[in-house]
Amino acid sequence: MPSQLSIKEKFPLAPLTTLGIGGAARFFVKATSEEELIAAMEFAEQHGLPVFILGGGSNVLVSDEGFSGLVVLIAIKGIERSETVTVGAGENWDGFVRQCVERNLAGVECLSGIPGFVGGTPVQNVGAYGQEVSETIIKVRAFDRQTKQIVELSNRECGFSYRTSIFNSTERDRYVVLAVTYALKPDGAPALRYPDVKNYFAGRSDQPALGEVRQAVIEIRSRKGMVIVANDPDCRSAGSFFKNPILSTEAFANLEARAEERPPSFPVANGTVKIPAAWLIEHAGFQRGYSKGRAGISSKHTLALINRGGATANEVLALVVEIQQQVAEKFGVQLMPEPIFVGFNS
Ligand code: NAP
Repeated sequence: MPSQLSIKEKFPLAPLTTLGIGGAARFFVKATSEEELIAAMEFAEQHGLPVFILGGGSNVLVSDEGFSGLVVLIAIKGIERSETVTVGAGENWDGFVRQCVERNLAGVECLSGIPGFVGGTPVQNVGAYGQEVSETIIKVRAFDRQTKQIVELSNRECGFSYRTSIFNSTERDRYVVLAVTYALKPDGAPALRYPDVKNYFAGRSDQPALGEVRQAVIEIRSRKGMVIVANDPDCRSAGSFFKNPILSTEAFANLEARAEERPPSFPVANGTVKIPAAWLIEHAGFQRGYSKGRAGISSKHTLALINRGGATANEVLALVVEIQQQVAEKFGVQLMPEPIFVGFNS
C-alpha cells in the first residue's frame, strides 16, 4: 500500500450519495491530488481490484452489498482563472457556478442548483434549461487508465452530444477526470431559452442579471424537488432517474398510435425526437407521491425516485423495474436509467 495514501477498509458509501443508499466499499481512498489518484490506481492494479470513481454521489445507486473493490473519491480542488477557468474535478459544481455568476461570467448560470462535483459534468454533458457544459468546455484533463498517462482532451475529442460523451459511452471507464477548463463570457448575457425560465421573467422589459437567472433556476428546481434539502425525504434522490428517450420517426409513430393524446416531442437531429420521460411515466399510470416500500416517486417531480426513509437499493430497483415495464407495455418505449449502478454484479 503506498505510504502516502490513507486507504480505508469496509467504508460506508451511503452517506456519500444523495440517495443515502448502499453498502460499504471493500477499500476506499480520498484522492486529493493527481499523485494520490495515480497511487490509488496502482494500488488497485497490484491487488487486482475493480475501481469505482466517486464524485458528488448525486447520480449513483450503490447496491445493498456495496462495492467489492476500491472506491476512489475525487477530492482534487482548486479554481484557476486566466482567460479560461480551470477547475479541479473534486470542486462542488454549484459552488463553482455561484462564483462564476458573482464574477459576472456567463455560460453556466442555467446549470445552478445541480448537485455533484465538477468532474462529473463532462461525463454526462450535464445540461438544463437549454444550456449544457459542452458549450463552454475547452478541455478536460484526465488520467488515462489504458496508457497510464495524464492527457488533455479537447472539446471535440470529448465527443459530446445530448447527455453523452466518450466518458459514458465509447470510452466508458477509461478516463478519470482530474480537471475541467471552461471558457465563460465576461459580462455576457444570460441564456433565457426555456419556457420555465422565460416565464419567470415575464413582464420584465430589461435583461435580468446573471445572479437573478441563477436565483430563478434554483427556485424552479426547488419547486420540482431537484435541489437537495437536508432531511427532506421528498428531495432525497439521484436527480432525474430516467433519461428522456430519443426516438426514431418510426418509434415515435408507434408511440403516437398507442397514446390517447399527442405526446410532447422536441426535434433533435436527423428526424429523431426527444420525449419527456416524465410524460411517459405519468401516462403509464404513475402519480407523483407514488410509493413502493420505502422507495417512491417525489411529490414534486415524476423523474425523481426517492428514498422515503431507510430504503434499500433493491427497493429502488423494484420501483425502477415496475416503471420500466409499465411504460414499455403501454408505449413500447424502453426507459433507460440515468444514474450509474455501483456494485450490482461484483
Ligand atoms: P422539463 O423542463 O420539464 O423538460 C422535459 C423534457 O422536455 C426534457 O427532455 C427537455 O429537454 C424537453 N424540453 C422542454 N422544453 C423544451 C424546449 N423549449 N426545447 C427543447 N426541449 C424542451 O424537464 P425537467 O425534468 O423539469 O428538468 C429541467 C431541466 O433540467 C431540463 O432541461 C432537463 O433536461 C434538465 N436536467 C438535466 C439532467 C442531467 O443533465 N443529467 C438531470 C435532470 C434534469 P432537455 O432535456 O434538452 O432540456
